[in-house]
Formats: sequence, C-alpha cells, structure tokens
Amino acid sequence: MKLLLATHNDHKRREFARLLAAPGTSDWQLDALPASVILPPEEGNTFAANAIVKAQAAARASGRPTIADDSGIAAAALGGAPGVRSARFAGEQASDEENLAKLLREAPAGSALEYVCALAYVDPASGGEARVFEGRCRGRLAADPRGERGFGYDPAFLPEDGPAGLTMAELSDEQKDAISHRGRAARALLAWLQRGA
Ligand code: IMP
Repeated sequence: MKLLLATHNDHKRREFARLLAAPGTSDWQLDALPASVILPPEEGNTFAANAIVKAQAAARASGRPTIADDSGIAAAALGGAPGVRSARFAGEQASDEENLAKLLREAPAGSALEYVCALAYVDPASGGEARVFEGRCRGRLAADPRGERGFGYDPAFLPEDGPAGLTMAELSDEQKDAISHRGRAARALLAWLQRGA
C-alpha cells in the first residue's frame, strides 16, 4: 500500500522511508509530497494539532492516504521549551546550527531533554478523520555537540536508551531508529495499519 508523506524535510523523509521499509513490516511504500503542495503554517500549541493540520491538507490536495509528523525537543530546564517551536527556536528562519547553539547556551549540560513526535494518519476514503500516534525519546544535554549523523539537535542529545556517552548524531541509522521518537511513533502506526486500520 502507498502512503503519501506530507513533509518537505529530507531528513524526516529518509527516516520514515527506512522505518516503513524495516524488516517485518508489510509492503508500505512512501511517496514524497509534490513540491507544488504548500503545507499550512504550524500554528498549533501541540505536536498533534500541527501534525493533523499538515496530514489533512495534503490528504485533501492529493485524495490519498497521508501521514505527517510534527516533532521537536522539550528541555526540562526551559519549562518544556522549545517544544512546538523547535524549528524556530533561534528565530523564524533559524538554521539547525543556530537552534542547537541556543539550546546549548540556555540549558545546562546534563539537564533532561525529551524528543516528541506526533504522527498523524489521514485516509480521505474513510472520512478524512485523523488518527495520531505519539513517540517519545528521553535524554540529556551533552556539554558539547558531537557526531555527524542525524540532524537538528542530535549532536547535543545523549539518549537515555542509547550506548553510554554517545550522542544521537554518533549512532548508526539502525541505532537511532530503534530508540527515536520517530521510530516509536512509526512502529505504533505500522502495528495499527497491520491490524487492519
Ligand atoms: P517540524 O516538525 O518540522 O516543526 O520541526 C521539527 C524540529 O525539531 C526541527 O527543528 C528539528 O531539528 C527538531 N527535530 C525533530 N526531530 C528531530 C530529530 O530526530 N533529531 C534532531 N532534531 C529533531
């Protein structure tokens, strides 16, 4: 079965393509969102609300079963910020590097972090109502960024369930997928789809 992925973020697209093709999963093929589809702005106060808006907009535009995620990082020392504003933490047009540098400046090394992913599924043929799956990954802030893999905040994120002392950006794709917020949400979606939606 084919699913449309409502994102223009290449890192997320690669991660979802891996996760949906993982051994033991059925034949889910992920199609990229055509560049012509403009996704609505992320104005919700929750990851779930933003994921639903994106999935519903792309499902309406395409008429096809669609998934969309909204994700980010919550720092306990910052009262849960940046949360839904993770992509814009250092400003509206901020780069991943600028957002990461701001987190390292504002939260103490060793303080608690959590990645959150809300993954929305919308099938226009079944009324267009969204179903949302959530995944979380707990960790701590590294003193300095390390590692070349992953994206975003990964170089400063020491995952609780990962090999001791390694940041998310130092893990292999398989290691990240096994413990990441996106991996956990994708597996919850797959389990539900495989039960027959
Ligand atoms: P959005 O879901 O497109 O709003 O953006 C997600 C934001 O959270 C981006 O700034 C990402 O850098 C960050 N983020 C989400 N997932 C991850 C991840 O797996 N690793 C690192 N950063 C992430």
